Amino acid sequence: MKVKVDPDLCMGCGVCETTAPDVFQLGDDGIAKVIVDIVPAHLEADVQTAIDDCPEGAISIVG
Ligand code: SF4
Repeated sequence: MKVKVDPDLCMGCGVCETTAPDVFQLGDDGIAKVIVDIVPAHLEADVQTAIDDCPEGAISIVG
C-alpha cells in the first residue's frame, strides 16, 4: 500500500499524524507529509482510519 496527501486539500488538522504517526507527519508548512514509501502491513489499518477520518478527503491510496 502506498498513500499520498494532496497538499491543495490538506488543511493541517493533524488527525492523520495522530492516527498513524509513523506514516504521516505535519511539515513546517503545516501540510501533512507521507514519510514512508510503502506503508508497513501492520500500519495499513491505521492508515485506512486516517483516510476515513481526514476531514478534507486529502489522503488517497496510490496505484
Ligand atoms: Fe491534512 Fe487530512 Fe492529515 Fe488533516 S487529516 S492533516 S487535512 S491530510
